[in-house]
Amino acid sequence: MIEIGVKNERARQALSLILDKFENNSIPQAIALATFPCPNIPSRKWSMLNRLIMLAYGTHDARGFRQWLETGRNVKKGSKAFYILGPRFVDDKEKEPDENGNYPKKLVGFLSIPVFRVEDTDGKEIDYALPKLPQLPLTEVAERWGIAVRATFGNPVWAGAYAPSLERIMLASPEETVFFHELAHTAHKRVNGHLNDEKWKKEIVAELSAAALCYLYGKKPDRTLGSSYRYIRSYAGDAGKDVLSACASVIGDVEKVLDLIVSEQDKAAKTACEEVEQHENEDERHACPCAPARGFENAPDKAQQAYADACKHALRQAEEPQGPDKEVHRAA
Ligand SMILES: [Zn+2]
Repeated sequence: MIEIGVKNERARQALSLILDKFENNSIPQAIALATFPCPNIPSRKWSMLNRLIMLAYGTHDARGFRQWLETGRNVKKGSKAFYILGPRFVDDKEKEPDENGNYPKKLVGFLSIPVFRVEDTDGKEIDYALPKLPQLPLTEVAERWGIAVRATFGNPVWAGAYAPSLERIMLASPEETVFFHELAHTAHKRVNGHLNDEKWKKEIVAELSAAALCYLYGKKPDRTLGSSYRYIRSYAGDAGKDVLSACASVIGDVEKVLDLIVSEQDKAAKTACEEVEQHENEDERHACPCAPARGFENAPDKAQQAYADACKHALRQAEEPQGPDKEVHRAA
């Protein structure tokens, strides 16, 4: 039995439910997470390392100078290239040539290849569209922390990524759990002031937090729990631990991450409600126009209730005359 000290009661319940399921082996089957399709662009064939380099430069499409020209686009003046690594092969003259006189090739090292981001080019319109993200719960939290959340093409390497240097989350998947995982990484960085822990720790903190956030804000929390379990098990294995002892060893950080995200979401809900106060037309205020715009209609019941309560509070305050400004609100 793992002691859970998370302050938020709902988060505590979600975590203990998940850990109980892990302990009793009542875990749903792991499913393959959905990912966005990828058009036929050069980086589709790149190595994992090169894709990660591209990610670090915050783009979904990078090509060489000439490759851009061939698509009818020009690299803008003053744009800086970044470099990917390409294998360098030479003829292996220690081996016999084939019947055409061609020697087999051997790898002798890597070349730096300059490529430019699509954002640094202009010209003929690009012949693909970026995937669209669904309305994801907790987007407001990322917004409040100044983190950009962007969709990108699917790839065989990762479903989501967080680039701390750019404060950007890239999602190659529409799944809530992927976004929650990346958001948990950003919260973990805020809690610890860094993200320098061992990889297995960081990943288990993010995935266990994401599983709990699915129960708190997701549409079908159980759907991806099996996948989370498998993910945690693989990183626990790296540390030579079983799932439960690995979870136990990072539970303190998971609690802090959850408390931070839940409290930030509550603040976001409150701010949305306080904006209600600023609407001049009373009918508009009663209709709570910020609600649909901010995706609250999809929030779990409890979040909607909290939102409604905060709205009532804001409206009560608006209705109490507190000076000349407030009088305007009351004029029917
Ligand atoms: Zn991760």
